[in-house]
Amino acid sequence: MTYIAVDLHVHTVYSGDSRVKVVDLVEYCREVGLGVAVTDHETFSGGFTTYRYVREFGYDMVVLCGAELMTNLGAVIVLLPEPQDVNYVPKDLRLLVRWARDRGFITIAPHPFSVTRGGLGEYLYDIEVDAIEVYNPSCSVEENERAMELANELGLPKVAGSDAHALEEVGTAYTVVSVQSSRFDNYDILEAIREGRTRPVCRPYTRGSSLYSTA
Ligand SMILES: [Zn+2]
Repeated sequence: MTYIAVDLHVHTVYSGDSRVKVVDLVEYCREVGLGVAVTDHETFSGGFTTYRYVREFGYDMVVLCGAELMTNLGAVIVLLPEPQDVNYVPKDLRLLVRWARDRGFITIAPHPFSVTRGGLGEYLYDIEVDAIEVYNPSCSVEENERAMELANELGLPKVAGSDAHALEEVGTAYTVVSVQSSRFDNYDILEAIREGRTRPVCRPYTRGSSLYSTA
């Protein structure tokens, strides 16, 4: 098994409300050895740009292309393995989950019990996403605990991410994903998340952090 630390919830300047520049994000993540899922509000542009930037320079760094989308029922994160045509994305959560699954993408319910940021909460009993964000540093202890309880109850994979809107917040929570081989790609990472080979970590990442630590 190979263990990869990935912050699965990061906003860049493409979000409008974040100060994180793509170049700074990449430099920081390379320095500490952290992978990242770029999950801007309502756009995949930040994720695609970050992915292409890293490829162009041939950097050895995990970048998943994502977005945090507001649906009819609340917020959902969609993760893609690489830039793809996403001109049409359903606004209806049930259709969106099916749309994502048909294409091999991943759906994650971020901060499900945050009222202020449109958590999906009880809707997750009816519509099955691929994973639940059980730790988000900007949520209250109670909100995170309820997310953990729900993931346990539904038997869904658990992930964590920083929800960073500033560079110093990147890696304040992250997920350790285990893949079968050291020669892995983004498809292997998405498959591992789907299969629950994840450990949410609720403390800041630093180089040398034990990748085996749990939340
Ligand atoms: Zn967010």
